[in-house]
Amino acid sequence: MKRNRKNIVVNILIIVVMLVTGIFAYSKTHQTIKKVAADNTSSNSAASVSAQADIATPPVEPPRLTYTGKIPILMYHYIRDYTDQGDPIGVGLSVSPAKFAAQLDYLKSKGYQTITFRDVEKNIVPAKSIILTFDDGYIDFYQNAYPELKKRQMTAVSYIVTGFNGGRYMNNSQIKEIASYGIEIGSHTISHQNLATISLAKAKNEITDSQPILENITGKPVISFCYPAGKFNDAVVALVKNSGYKYATTTKNGLADFTDPLILSRYRIGPDTNIASLIK
Ligand SMILES: [Zn+2]
Repeated sequence: MKRNRKNIVVNILIIVVMLVTGIFAYSKTHQTIKKVAADNTSSNSAASVSAQADIATPPVEPPRLTYTGKIPILMYHYIRDYTDQGDPIGVGLSVSPAKFAAQLDYLKSKGYQTITFRDVEKNIVPAKSIILTFDDGYIDFYQNAYPELKKRQMTAVSYIVTGFNGGRYMNNSQIKEIASYGIEIGSHTISHQNLATISLAKAKNEITDSQPILENITGKPVISFCYPAGKFNDAVVALVKNSGYKYATTTKNGLADFTDPLILSRYRIGPDTNIASLIK
């Protein structure tokens, strides 16, 4: 009798120990699965483990990396043969088509790849990247620059003033055509005014309202902006940011530093600029 009772007590003890061990092991495994899922939320296999471990956990998007390096940005205006002595400003803003073509060949020979701000946004920035920008949307971009870019499978950014359309400037169908090819269309406001001196309400209108006009023409999001005549102040930069632009260029001379993506410097290219002195 005594022996039997002792056996029963021992058996009960064994069962209790097994139960406790089992519960402990189960909870430990469950925690490990949760931890693995939390550590690898971006991969598919982890996502399915996560789904098994805890159905209520929403999928987590992998973090999008922000590019914060430096890229040379060239600033062009007219691509045309122009030597009017009475218009020194116009001459200073012009690069001949022959010289422009030679500059593109030089960049290719040095292994440079032309990219756009859309590439920068996606963090697709090859080691030798360069951004070519063209201010004001002049018709000669369509006539003289675009064919040379296309011939070499190169790209660029064209800053359009939405109120300047046709005549000296590209019209909507030309803007649509270059955008379809892959030229990025950026905003250069509605009427090219000095944003630092007009009222903030007017500046807001110039910055914000030009964006959907261009998006309607191109069918693509407009993420880049260019300050007319390079004029801006803190309030203007805040308006540009609040309108949803990711990148904005100034006329400040130098290599663009993308830690400050809304006040990017550029290299001004004039009729006599030797780009070999800027771009090695
Ligand atoms: Zn301009």
